[in-house]
Amino acid sequence: MSDPYTDVQLIDKKGLRLDGRKLDELRPIKIEVGVLKRADGSCYLEWGENKVIVGVYGPREVHPRHMQNPMRGIVQARYNMVSFSVSERKRPGPDRRSTEISKLLPEALEHVVLTDRFPRTTVDVYIEVVQASAGTRCAGLTAASVALADAGIPMRDLIASVASGKIGGKLVLDLGQAEDTYGQADVPFAMVGRTGEVVLLQMDGHLTIEEFETLLEMNRKAALEVYEIQKAALKDRYSSFTEEGEAEPDAPEEEKKDEKKEKKSSPPPKADKEPKEPKEPKESKEPKEPKEPKEPKEPKEPKEPKESKEPKEVKEPKAKDEKAPVPEEMVEEATPEKDDKGPAPAGGDE
Ligand code: UDP
Repeated sequence: MSDPYTDVQLIDKKGLRLDGRKLDELRPIKIEVGVLKRADGSCYLEWGENKVIVGVYGPREVHPRHMQNPMRGIVQARYNMVSFSVSERKRPGPDRRSTEISKLLPEALEHVVLTDRFPRTTVDVYIEVVQASAGTRCAGLTAASVALADAGIPMRDLIASVASGKIGGKLVLDLGQAEDTYGQADVPFAMVGRTGEVVLLQMDGHLTIEEFETLLEMNRKAALEVYEIQKAALKDRYSSFTEEGEAEPDAPEEEKKDEKKEKKSSPPPKADKEPKEPKEPKESKEPKEPKEPKEPKEPKEPKEPKESKEPKEVKEPKAKDEKAPVPEEMVEEATPEKDDKGPAPAGGDE
């Protein structure tokens, strides 16, 4: 069936599309979480031939300052297609299209990000399309939502996005490159996974109201599929993490304490934000006399920059002196003047 506007046949006699898909079939989607080491959160997404990388930074201070909102944080995004992402080299830098998309996407994301939890700050989302094949704004938004979750940004849900359209007089899901170019209409869409709230809806081309409604319904259904893929990717990434950090799956709590030494391995991202167990003062109750320099608390290694605030390995100040010799300054620090608080948190200046 050739498109009335062109000679390009987008749907064959069997009702299949150029890439062999059925009319209501999505292209294959693959999502990988946490792919960038230096971003607070990140995601790599392949959607058909689209390839998108998203890095999230923040919350961090807003510059310029007049953009700060004392009541809530803001979400900013930059959507960019790299020069080699399309068949004809794209001129680097922003253009009208990328400016439009860079405005739409954070507006959608602000519906799910709990911005009141981080006033005066910004969360910056960088969306880099390294290979484009239609539907990149939806792919970018889908990936951005996952990357925000990876960054630990408080959100009420994920946003799932997909586009549908009309080609050769038929309504189809998830337009490919040729379909986008030679088709008659395109309807990008995004919704909040659980509630179904629509947070992005655009239309390019001509459709009747009935057609539009059918496409909306098609988008809704497909967005749920995308939503499941997003959740699965996050689960896949984090199922191996415990409260303490990256999984040492077979190390039960107790054992972990004993083998502190091993712990020096590589602590995972966020997980350990709460000041753990500087409690259990053990013998700290009695008026400190010849303090027990025994605190086995070993010199806290500056594992991860984040951790430096917490007392981490202060765990069990118990009087087991079997541990390594304690450096002088630690001995001093360890003398709990506050009777039952145990040693002060390392570096805890507040
Ligand atoms: N495109 C391109 N050059 C451009 C902009 C877009 O080749 O400067 C291609 C690219 O593959 C993109 C497709 O056209 O995915 C459709 O672009 P559209 O503006 O509809 O946005 P999208 O569908 O990617 O969200």
